[in-house]
Amino acid sequence: MDIPAPRDTAESTELSQINASLQSDYGKGKWCPDGPQGKCLSLNDLERIMATSRDPKELERAWAGWHAIAPPMRKRYARMVVLANKGARETGFADVGAMWRSNYDMAPDAFSAELDRLWQQVRPLYVSLHAYVRWKLEEKYGTGVVSEDRPIPAHLLGNMWSQDWTNIYPLLAPANADPGYDLTEILKAKKIEPVGMVHYGERFFMSLGFAALPQTFWERSMFTKPQDRDVVCHASAWDIDYVEDLRIKMCIEQKSEDFTTIHHELGHNFYQRAYDTQSPLFRNSANDGFHEAIGDTIALSVTPEYLKQIGLLENVPPASSDIGLLMKRALDKVAFLPFGLLIDKWRWEVFSGQVTPENYNKAWWELREKYQGIAPPSARSEEDFDPGAKYHVAANVPYARYFLAAILQYQFHRALCRESGYKGPLHRCSIYNNKEAGARLNKMLAMGESRPWPEALEALTGEKQMDATAILEYYAPLKQWLDEQNKGHKVDW
Ligand SMILES: [Zn+2]
Repeated sequence: MDIPAPRDTAESTELSQINASLQSDYGKGKWCPDGPQGKCLSLNDLERIMATSRDPKELERAWAGWHAIAPPMRKRYARMVVLANKGARETGFADVGAMWRSNYDMAPDAFSAELDRLWQQVRPLYVSLHAYVRWKLEEKYGTGVVSEDRPIPAHLLGNMWSQDWTNIYPLLAPANADPGYDLTEILKAKKIEPVGMVHYGERFFMSLGFAALPQTFWERSMFTKPQDRDVVCHASAWDIDYVEDLRIKMCIEQKSEDFTTIHHELGHNFYQRAYDTQSPLFRNSANDGFHEAIGDTIALSVTPEYLKQIGLLENVPPASSDIGLLMKRALDKVAFLPFGLLIDKWRWEVFSGQVTPENYNKAWWELREKYQGIAPPSARSEEDFDPGAKYHVAANVPYARYFLAAILQYQFHRALCRESGYKGPLHRCSIYNNKEAGARLNKMLAMGESRPWPEALEALTGEKQMDATAILEYYAPLKQWLDEQNKGHKVDW
């Protein structure tokens, strides 16, 4: 239960109504530029504009249009905080944030200090990427729109929340470092259908020694968007009976991004199956960051060399194109880090009362500037409620797990590469077909939640502490390249 209900029946009912209404407002959110009678744009439509438009005015309108769904949520959100905190106190926690932070086998404050430590480790990498992106955007849009003296305006990064910058890769692509292939085009050219893409993912796990997925997985999962009804397309993995009934639910399209997401979701399923012999109490991951990290760890092994081994790529691109590949991946994974951290930083302050409703939006933008180095496209006020325009805030889903996963997956990858005997640069390692690495991974997965997470981490990596040096090692060639490009430009904000 992420949101604890108070004992009082009336209050508990009120809380669940508020939560349902916030989620529903988000789900129904639209922007109707010509008023409610005119044509309306869904989040999908607006995200497409954010991804593809290069017109700053149009981007700003789409950004502001989506964020206009949130102000009506503000009052209910503030009331939700009061009621949920009451529920948390009744179960012995100081507030909801402290309750969320208590799931990590350490004191809540020690956990926040741990996140800060990890952030300090990775911050220099993020800052180098940010500086490069900022001056490239200034070149593209002009000093009136982006400037090295200021944080980056949030509407120019190819994504509604500036949390994934992959869509602006074409504006940033290093010269002479084109990888020379595009997985999306390969999937289309080879006519690999959604189910076929899932089979590639399954075969990767099998190559490590895991058993094939049960027949029911193929019968009961949803792989494509049904034509005849509305469904939630947000990808998810399910463990229906805690034994063998595993499923995924996705609207798979023939594209590279979905190929990666398939591995992410299957990571949940293979974890679920590995711990199903534990007592029911322990059928969960070591902590929630572990669950999110497993499939992503496998996806890091989807290298050009691997694609060649499975017959999807004819020629492995030369080492000189590594910078292009690393840049693309960093725009997703490195750009995400401060965002992954600040969502719950904001909520912890809100639940603890350090940030009051009069300062919701101000505190939000202070964190976004401090951690992400970004600013709103236009002036905001306490009339706005910009955090509510993010799904996980409106739906009360804790977020620290995604930050942890973003760090842990590289630590897991490095350990598995070592176990497999691999010696080269980390970003070129694939553990495909390596049974030793698979056995090591399974050892940790099978532990479930039966031991504190540092012991699970140790079983896989030999290390008891979360450690961001693996992600730094992975992107080291890119960092060096970025620092050369950034010479003569302002770094940090
Ligand atoms: Zn997940």
